[in-house]
Amino acid sequence: MQFESSASFAQRMDADDPLAAFQDQFHMPLDQKGQKCIYLCGNSLGLQPKSVRESIEQELQDWQTFGVEGHFHAKNPWMRYHELLAEPMARLVGAKPLEVVVMNTLTVNLHLLMVSFYRPTAKRYKILIEASAFPSDQYAVKSQLHFHGYHPDDALIEVQPDDGQAWISTEKIEAVLAQQGHEIALVLLGGVNYYSGQAFDMARITAAAHAQGCVVGFDLAHAAGNVMLHLHDWQVDFAVWCSYKYLNAGPGSTAGCFVHERHANAVDLPRFAGWWGHDKATRFKMGPDFQPIAGAEGWQLSNPAILPLAALRASMAIFDEAGMANLCAKSEKLTGYLEFLIEQIGGDAVESITPKQPEARGAQLSLRLARDGKAVFDRLSARGVVCDWREPDVIRIAPVPLYNSFTDVYRFVEIMKEEMHGLGRNFRRS
Ligand SMILES: *Cc1c(COP(=O)(O)O)cnc(C)c1O
Repeated sequence: MQFESSASFAQRMDADDPLAAFQDQFHMPLDQKGQKCIYLCGNSLGLQPKSVRESIEQELQDWQTFGVEGHFHAKNPWMRYHELLAEPMARLVGAKPLEVVVMNTLTVNLHLLMVSFYRPTAKRYKILIEASAFPSDQYAVKSQLHFHGYHPDDALIEVQPDDGQAWISTEKIEAVLAQQGHEIALVLLGGVNYYSGQAFDMARITAAAHAQGCVVGFDLAHAAGNVMLHLHDWQVDFAVWCSYKYLNAGPGSTAGCFVHERHANAVDLPRFAGWWGHDKATRFKMGPDFQPIAGAEGWQLSNPAILPLAALRASMAIFDEAGMANLCAKSEKLTGYLEFLIEQIGGDAVESITPKQPEARGAQLSLRLARDGKAVFDRLSARGVVCDWREPDVIRIAPVPLYNSFTDVYRFVEIMKEEMHGLGRNFRRS
């Protein structure tokens, strides 16, 4: 693709974008002057689909009308409400409906699935993660190690980035697996790393880890709704993700989880059980003995919160309408355009630390600023650009294909250049 650094080129790209109309399905936040923001923070909190309000109001209305009978008589009876999410969620992550469930929040699901899938033995007890994994994942993993009587100094393997890079090559992970795989019980990686924006080669890593007898889980917080996933075909053992980043289901909304079909009837796996994971046919017999539902639903604990699920349903309908493959095709161009414009700036003032290959990233570039990073970020914020700052020197930019345009990307880079210039930094004007 031949890009150009001009407003008219960005407008032409938008005019040719078959997904351009989706922007209208979202509420765009306004800046202090009442103008639409340039919102590039969908990797942190996705925007509100306009259809969410109606979806939630339906449940408020049914609660008002039916009270407890809403479990059966609501337009979408609450008793089976979460089941409405299984098919769209399965399509999104490349799974069978049996393999996915929406429940709880991400870190809770990570713990619940580690209870079942981190089964250390005397010889095989280590956990492999990526260095600088999201803090919550580090805390969850370390606390699981302690819970089983191990110490992270010995039992936690953190794969470091390749020399001079922010990302980790698949070869490096394969080398660690070849050397230490026989001691590793669990490989747990972020599908897309939150800091570097690197998308891991989940198929290859899963195969390499399985060849060593390790169980493989992925945290897809930054991958779900962002990159193509084929969890079933890749043979991933389990995965978890939240729904408020690329999935646009609102702050703290209900999370997802995947358990591969081959574990669907593994009743011998230890798990922390609750009544909502119990066989539906006998759940209300209120018996004392737990019989799990086959598949991911068997890991549920509680009857789910319907209001966040209503938001998630509205959002998933948009993903079905747009199609993940179409979104990924646009995303590749949009992030590619951002990268092109950043490279045009020249000099050493700003560089992307995200991998360059389109298959090794999603809708994010992490920009490292050589100087005055925080000051540039503050100036961007003051001008209505919403992005985020990560210590010590990184601004994360997420051009989201559902609601960001090529013009958003172009305007963002223009504003950044102006603000860097305003701070008296020399760089070649493109
Ligand atoms: C966003 C994110 C989380 C957040 O966890 P919650 O339980 O939803 O608060 C955890 N892990 C990763 C990798 C994330 O990106």
